[in-house]
Amino acid sequence: MRINKFLSFSGLTSRRKAEDLILSGKVEVNDKVISDLSYKVDPNKDVVKVNGRLVKIRKKRHYLLFYKPRWVLTALGKDPGGLKTLDEYIKDLKIRLFPAGRLDFDSEGLLLLTDDGDFAHKIHHPSFEVVKKYQVLVNPIFDIVDKEKVLSGCVLMGKYVKPDSFKILKDLSDASWLEIAFHEGMKHLVKEYLKKMGYSVKRLIRVAIGDFRLTGVPGSYRWLSEEEVSNFK
Ligand code: URA
Repeated sequence: MRINKFLSFSGLTSRRKAEDLILSGKVEVNDKVISDLSYKVDPNKDVVKVNGRLVKIRKKRHYLLFYKPRWVLTALGKDPGGLKTLDEYIKDLKIRLFPAGRLDFDSEGLLLLTDDGDFAHKIHHPSFEVVKKYQVLVNPIFDIVDKEKVLSGCVLMGKYVKPDSFKILKDLSDASWLEIAFHEGMKHLVKEYLKKMGYSVKRLIRVAIGDFRLTGVPGSYRWLSEEEVSNFK
């Protein structure tokens, strides 16, 4: 790759300005100042510095906010058992994305997909304490006397967990809609937690991950803007 293209791909400057930097002797490749505008660099091997500072190519990353429908596996590729996977929805994008976190087969709602490993790690690693919010339909009707118990937490799979928030949304004739949020990332966390409290989850919708909110209809997606991503980072 020509050096001016390399410098513009790094996000440092435009190709035109990169030429000025080269001509003014500010660009070094492998500790040698270069002045040839057609100089070629190998982005995987050569060490490029501008004004003595290391410059690397910044690859464009992609971030997708997807509404996972129920009865879809949080997996890529074909399922040997013939179940629907994310491929059904994102295959045509021609960009290899992977899910940042997961939702159960029978759960629906917000799933973020990306090709940025650091972003994905930050979304689902509990140490970053990104809060995930869920709306859940439970059986039987929620008894208000259990509210304190739900709010105070319990030991689950050997770890003490407690919701970041909890509220009762609405009672139906034989079930209730609740809203509950956690920053932990355990498997089946919401279902297991509410089971311990005496409730069975009939439907689970993830409505938010940090400041990212669920929008659209099941199966739809939208790209996140750079601003949304950098606000999160
Ligand atoms: N908790 C669950 O139990 N299931 C999910 O899909 C997500 C959170």
